[in-house]
Amino acid sequence: MKASAFSYARATSVGNAIELLVAHGERAKVLSGGQSLMPAMNLRLVAPELIVDIGDVAELRGIAVSGDILTIGALTRHADLLKSSKIAAHAPLLIDAVAHVAHPAIRNRGTIGGNLAHADPASELPACMVALDATIVACGPAGERRIPAGDFFTGIYETALSAQELLVAVELPVARKDSAHFFCEFARRHGDYAIVGLAAQAVVENDMLTDLRPVFFAIGDRPVLAKASAKLLKTAVTPALLAEASHDLSKELDPPEDQQANASMRRHLAKVLLARCVSTLLGRPDLCAGESL
Ligand SMILES: Cc1cc2nc3c(=O)[nH]c(=O)nc-3n(C[C@H](O)[C@H](O)[C@H](O)COP(=O)(O)OP(=O)(O)OC[C@H]3O[C@@H](n4cnc5c(N)ncnc54)[C@H](O)[C@@H]3O)c2cc1C
Repeated sequence: MKASAFSYARATSVGNAIELLVAHGERAKVLSGGQSLMPAMNLRLVAPELIVDIGDVAELRGIAVSGDILTIGALTRHADLLKSSKIAAHAPLLIDAVAHVAHPAIRNRGTIGGNLAHADPASELPACMVALDATIVACGPAGERRIPAGDFFTGIYETALSAQELLVAVELPVARKDSAHFFCEFARRHGDYAIVGLAAQAVVENDMLTDLRPVFFAIGDRPVLAKASAKLLKTAVTPALLAEASHDLSKELDPPEDQQANASMRRHLAKVLLARCVSTLLGRPDLCAGESL
């Protein structure tokens, strides 16, 4: 199938892109890497009258560190994240996560801004943004606004962005020296969307977790920051305590059923991921010794 007929405009600046979005409202769609938008158009899941191509807007590119903030421009491609020494030094969770996003051909075109604006609940980067406590920077006719990642994802393919706003950048606190991270996902094949995944950022001090942000994906309509892990903080984690946290996690989650997995399988996989995460972060293989898939 081919996309319905549409008009095309190549934005020359952020301001110009916003003018076009204001003039056309819901009838316009922003084009970044096109790796999600073009398939959706070809399947006629969406039929915008105007495509606003932001690919030439240089101010949306680049990765910079200023003080303790790492800023990633919206047009930064997945492949650029993988190659960046700044990302490796200050947000290494993203390196592990992006390696699981699709395949090289898609990573060469897909962008972080497009990925986050698309808000697929099975996508890796939205979960990482919540785990890293990122701020999403949006620009619209009223100027710039900053949205905590935890408030940005509002449902399946839904975000806090209005039709007249452009996602221009994300800001991440640079990783503390004593921080640690964990990323793992279960998928049928490497590069497929996850059946269930977990991205976590943590601080480990004296063999204890003093901070932990475990964010599950493909298990709800948006990334899920698990509250159940709070009881694992600032204490010596025992297998019994981990089992309690796992039990609480299971109650907290409300996983979807689809052709990949039913809800109980997703709950089980989430518990396995939590055990692997805590065991890896603390360097305690005993904590997931009894675990089985
Ligand atoms: C076969 C295949 C496998 C894939 N596997 C995965 C996977 O495992 N994990 C994963 O996370 N992704 C996967 N993807 C999607 C891929 O990561 C996309 O690149 C990404 O989701 C969208 O980025 P994009 O730059 O291509 O955005 P586009 O396709 O250009 O846009 C996506 C949506 O976001 C909007 N948009 C784009 N940029 C902006 C902006 N700056 N401001 C506001 N709105 C904007 C568009 O209007 C559109 O609605 C896969 C894609 C394919 C084709």
